[in-house]
Amino acid sequence: MATTYIIKDDEKTKKWKTPHGELYIIKDRCKGCSFCIEFCPKKVLVESKEFNAKGYHPPELQEDETKKCINCGFCAMICPEFAIFSEADAQSKDIAQIPEKEYPIPESPKIPEIKKARDVLTGEHFWNGDVAAAEGAIAAGCKFFGGYPITPSTEVAEHIAERMPQVGGVYVQMEDEIASIAAVLGAAWGGAKSMTATSGPGFSLMQENIGLAVITETPCLIINVQRGGPSTGLPTLVAQADVMQARWGTHGDHEIIALAPNSPQECFDLTIECFNLAYKYRTPVLLMMDECVGHMTERVVVPERSKIHLVDRKKPKGEPGKVKIYEADEDLVPPMPYAGEGYNIHMTGLTHDERGYPSTIPETQERMIKRICDKIRIHADEIIRYEEFMLEDAEIVVVAYGITSRVVKRAVVMAREKGIKAGMFRLITLWPFPEKKVRELAKKVKNFLVVEINYGQMVLEVERCACPSKVHFLGKMGGSVHTPEEVLQKITEVTK
Ligand code: SF4
Ligand code: SF4
Repeated sequence: MATTYIIKDDEKTKKWKTPHGELYIIKDRCKGCSFCIEFCPKKVLVESKEFNAKGYHPPELQEDETKKCINCGFCAMICPEFAIFSEADAQSKDIAQIPEKEYPIPESPKIPEIKKARDVLTGEHFWNGDVAAAEGAIAAGCKFFGGYPITPSTEVAEHIAERMPQVGGVYVQMEDEIASIAAVLGAAWGGAKSMTATSGPGFSLMQENIGLAVITETPCLIINVQRGGPSTGLPTLVAQADVMQARWGTHGDHEIIALAPNSPQECFDLTIECFNLAYKYRTPVLLMMDECVGHMTERVVVPERSKIHLVDRKKPKGEPGKVKIYEADEDLVPPMPYAGEGYNIHMTGLTHDERGYPSTIPETQERMIKRICDKIRIHADEIIRYEEFMLEDAEIVVVAYGITSRVVKRAVVMAREKGIKAGMFRLITLWPFPEKKVRELAKKVKNFLVVEINYGQMVLEVERCACPSKVHFLGKMGGSVHTPEEVLQKITEVTK
């Protein structure tokens, strides 16, 4: 059944007559994203000079171009705010006439398996990375999503909003990203595996509360589908420029775990892995996707439920009233009580002792920081994952992650065809950085080439660890992915 979208009386609309029907815009609803302008095949929409109530310039049909509009409805289809409508769009639903104030919009497409309301959709699917990550979260037992949709992570929220109620979970759309991550932390302490998903500026807004998750040792998942920045940057286009923000975005000494998938299949698998790491080490974990991986659609195989390995929290062994919520075991990870189980829980972002009580004593700070950093550092070998491709006899190691690694793989094969002994080292775990492995490779090769969609971020880590090898860099500022030919050219240049 089609949903009917009502345009309220007080909303200012503007209409244009075109040869194939009318085009309507509700000016004050527009958020100025320019998608309609960009996607119009006839290029007849332009940004108007007037401001709407939100302070944006809504699009307008150029008066002298009215005749060129073919009323194809692409602008209506692409508008995220339902601000622009074409008559053709309505007619495609077999409605002879557009009623005065009602315009139908199509229902969002449904994936048939969803209707079965299973939490693990065992079988083969054709999903994009965002949807695969959402399904990975559900398969991992995530029962709370607090978020604020933002491109290019919106599909994670959109998909999970539909799925959560079906599996007994909760989706809350918060007022912004700061509130979203705060809700995620609250839900985790309430006993739900919880997560959020965001992009670019939303990730920046979350940083303070990511620090709160670190200091309160709250397991949760934050997905960042990276786009071009800084600030609003390139909302719909790729970048890998948040990898240092992932490491050092929040203030103070801390360690962080961050993984980077390079396919929708890995978005599914690594989301489960992220939850496992979060619960194993009682810490927030980041899944650093990029726009291309998030929006890429490929085959995703979901295994049988029994084949999915899940890690849950360590429960406190002592009696309620006697357990200290930050008293760690030998592995430096404290068991986690949930609020409402009878334990004394005192949560604060202040430096705290093992009971969770605030403390301003330097020794407490020393003890707390050392432990929350060391619980990751001493387990780095268990956490770190990477892929080695044609490295056995490589004379040049190309380092890549995310979407870039797929291009690099092709470039490495092309280089081999030309007789250059190239290999790829793919970071699956970005943080902790696999420094031991890079040091080991540096003993064997003279050259490293780091390919990433930023102006030089992970290359700094490679430089730190790859001495005495030479480290070269091939970056892109965002908006597009390297071509295999570009990477091959750089490999050739470096190995000359
Ligand atoms: S209906 Fe089609 S041709 Fe007309 S403005 Fe929208 S996208 Fe452009
Ligand atoms: S797509 Fe919608 S929100 Fe974006 S500029 Fe066009 S009318 Fe405004």
